[in-house]
Amino acid sequence: MDLVAAFAAIEDRTSSTIGVTDTNPFPEEEERILSRVDAGLHGGLSFTYAHPGTASSPAESFPWASSIVVAAVPYLEAGDGERDDRTVARFADGDRYDYLREVLEQIASELAGRGHRIEVVFDDNRLLDRPLALRAGVAWSGKSTMTLTPGAGPWILLGSVVTDAKIPVSEPMQRTCGTCDACIPACPTDAIISPGVLDARLCISAVLQRRGTIDPALRPKIGSRIYGCDDCLVACPPGQPALRRHTPAATVLNPEHVLTVEDEELERIADRWYVPSRRMRFVRRNALVALGNSGDESSLELLAAYLSSDDELLSSHAAWAIGRIAGPPARAILQSALRTVTSEIVRAELVAAIAAAARGGVYADESSGRHPPTKPSASTQEAAR
Ligand code: SF4
Ligand code: SF4
Repeated sequence: MDLVAAFAAIEDRTSSTIGVTDTNPFPEEEERILSRVDAGLHGGLSFTYAHPGTASSPAESFPWASSIVVAAVPYLEAGDGERDDRTVARFADGDRYDYLREVLEQIASELAGRGHRIEVVFDDNRLLDRPLALRAGVAWSGKSTMTLTPGAGPWILLGSVVTDAKIPVSEPMQRTCGTCDACIPACPTDAIISPGVLDARLCISAVLQRRGTIDPALRPKIGSRIYGCDDCLVACPPGQPALRRHTPAATVLNPEHVLTVEDEELERIADRWYVPSRRMRFVRRNALVALGNSGDESSLELLAAYLSSDDELLSSHAAWAIGRIAGPPARAILQSALRTVTSEIVRAELVAAIAAAARGGVYADESSGRHPPTKPSASTQEAAR
């Protein structure tokens, strides 16, 4: 069996899409990344933004290679069906890279078995996985900025096997989103500023991964999320059949659990998440915002304990959450804290929280309109087929 036939057999066995590209650079990608960094749209995230020159020139990191075999592998599993109150995005719920790793190992073993040098690469700053996937014809680029395949829509992980084998390259996929634009209004923060352009400063997925204070204007829109956001993926018609094939999760990660477990347990939960410097305070910060958005008065005692934390990041987000919950008990906690607070940062949060609590939990910088996850209409489903 030749390599092309061997890859086709792996595709059939694994429901994946596999293509081949060369190691030529992506000069337009380097330009695109640099212009987004200039415009501030990267939102402080590093990853490929950190080394755009290297990431867009595969031959720099892999001078020995001739071809790159790219795989788009579906990652939905039982428990991933639709459920509006998910607090963790599907890709981050457990180790979704297991199956990708397995598919890439199958490809690698076909190549190694023929005596070729190989290196399996995924989630790695040395390669731009999305442009590679487009050039290798395994996906098309969605208006949401996600890559999509016909079988799985945006619910895919990308990985590559870099090899010295000379393999005929594949043609790019002749598909587009067509007239569909369901992901754009589905975004709770309007982070997709035009088709295919994401302002990472507004994207909840990116915001929850960053260090520091979460912009107060974004906190209400974060809703119950603790890590990641799937709204633009859930709204995407090509991904709907895959979503429907799976049952919803029986339980979701509870923000109270995040705020009461020891660091060791939280590190286990967040094992595959990007957490700045692996400091669990950033995950707890996210959970404080989620708990505030729950509006649940029974969580006030827990939030009051965080309000008295020595960590300003946590006490200031706890103040915000208490103001969000509002009601007389919340106001009493905030007023009492204001009498003894010494941190100017926390004081400012307390003042804003007291005002918000008086308005029923609405903050002055809160824009109107919260978007629930949007289901595609029949017409957009048709358009994207
Ligand atoms: S829907 Fe969520 S993940 Fe998608 S762009 Fe908007 S904030 Fe980011
Ligand atoms: S929702 Fe529609 S426009 Fe957005 S990525 Fe999916 S198919 Fe493309």
